[in-house]
Amino acid sequence: MTHAAIIGGGMAGMLAATAIARHVDRVTIIESDTFPSSPAQRRGLPQGHHNHMLFGGGAMALDTLLPKTTDLLYAHGAHHLRIGERMAMLSPQGWSRRFDGDPFVVTCSRPLLDHVVRRQALSYHRITLIQSAKVVGLTGDASRVTGVRVERDGGPEETIEADLVVDAAGRRSDSPRWLTDLGLPEVAEDTLDAGFAYAGRSFLAPPSAGDDFPGILIQADNSTGEPGRGAALLPNEDGRWIVALIGTRGAHPPTDEEGWLDFARSMRSPIIADLLVGATPLGEIRAYRGLANRRRHFERIVPEGFVVLGDAAMTLNPNYATGMSISAFGALALREEVERTGFTEGLARRAQQRIAKAGEPWWEVAIGQDRWFPNVRTNLTLRGGASQLKMAARWGRVVTEHPAMARATYSAASLVITPKKMMTLPLLVAMMRGPKLPPLTAEEAIAQYPGFSGVLDAAPADSAVSQTSA
Ligand SMILES: Cc1cc2nc3c(=O)[nH]c(=O)nc-3n(C[C@H](O)[C@H](O)[C@H](O)COP(=O)(O)OP(=O)(O)OC[C@H]3O[C@@H](n4cnc5c(N)ncnc54)[C@H](O)[C@@H]3O)c2cc1C
Repeated sequence: MTHAAIIGGGMAGMLAATAIARHVDRVTIIESDTFPSSPAQRRGLPQGHHNHMLFGGGAMALDTLLPKTTDLLYAHGAHHLRIGERMAMLSPQGWSRRFDGDPFVVTCSRPLLDHVVRRQALSYHRITLIQSAKVVGLTGDASRVTGVRVERDGGPEETIEADLVVDAAGRRSDSPRWLTDLGLPEVAEDTLDAGFAYAGRSFLAPPSAGDDFPGILIQADNSTGEPGRGAALLPNEDGRWIVALIGTRGAHPPTDEEGWLDFARSMRSPIIADLLVGATPLGEIRAYRGLANRRRHFERIVPEGFVVLGDAAMTLNPNYATGMSISAFGALALREEVERTGFTEGLARRAQQRIAKAGEPWWEVAIGQDRWFPNVRTNLTLRGGASQLKMAARWGRVVTEHPAMARATYSAASLVITPKKMMTLPLLVAMMRGPKLPPLTAEEAIAQYPGFSGVLDAAPADSAVSQTSA
């Protein structure tokens, strides 16, 4: 009888369980939190209050692991936003023109996403869930992990034995300490921290916003030497919007109502603040800090029988919205390795190397952007200079007007292709030639999305409605 134990039942834990369920007799997920029976916030997932985009590459990986999951999400009200058509984007180089193409993002609340994934995963008869049970350490020695030590309901510590233990306990995982307790060396860790902070709030969209209301992304500018400030508005299920205001060290968004709205209004475009006039706030403004990029090199030391994936292995600044997709890529890498070699000697090391490789391109993207914000803290030696930033700005400017370049760039941003693959010869030539069109004015950009004018024109009436319905 083979048995796998998964630490944590979040996104990575559920996906890891399904990834190996066909190849073991039993999988046990051990979760310290208690799951709600419907899509609802929970204590163990504080980021659940904040906006989450599941990019196309991650959505496809999710469907490979758990077929038809995105269909279920859409049936529950999640939105399928084609980026070129339903996402208004203001980059440091200006507003993007709309373009045809496949790059897409799934938007809905994180509680809905997790609820649907959880239900799908737990329908596998080999997977068992133990809730309100906290893993406090590992058993085994420096050469092999043989199980986990668990505390539950204030009772005595117990041991759950397993042929494979997967740490999917998220960004607060204690694996480095647990491994040194077994006699292993410290896990090497890379960090780069631009001091990003989120302040987010949910809203009931005004009645004038239709079902196909677009999302908005205002990207923080990393090229000015000043702290970056950005924002996002995403349509969620049940006619809700979720709005994130984002700032790097030195420009953190406030969490009081007036300061928060002032921050939204002081962006390079006040469009989000304008659209909120007729929306009804749902709940308080919530802050999230401590959003450094951090990766731990478990692939250099993992003992037999132990694998780490999801945020526990690599946590990226959520500004790039890649964490859930990378969790799915990691679970797919684990599945492929188990399928290829079964539970043979060296499985953990090989799987961990593939998991690290699957996340590597997105690590490079995140640190390649964040390193240019002021007052960055890092233990990395960074190569390349201002010429890289200049080239990125030129590329970004052409993206705003060149459909093929936009399709390639957003295919990479949505994790469908790697950034290296987007740099084809014709697109490099287009970048060298530079922009051909004048930048869009804010009015021209906003006029591309009739949904905006519908809400902006109706704002006073909507505002009266929202005040009575709040
Ligand atoms: C503000 C914010 C916004 C984000 N936006 C996006 C986005 O737009 N798109 C995107 O792709 N990603 C986004 N992310 C990242 C995303 O939330 C994570 O990448 C993702 O949740 C990682 O999944 P995970 O399973 O590794 O960790 P989690 O989802 O954090 O799950 C870890 C689980 O382990 C449990 N656990 C912890 N310790 C123990 C223990 N000792 N014993 C048992 N159980 C334990 C926890 O209760 C939890 O259920 C965002 C993150 C933040 C902070």
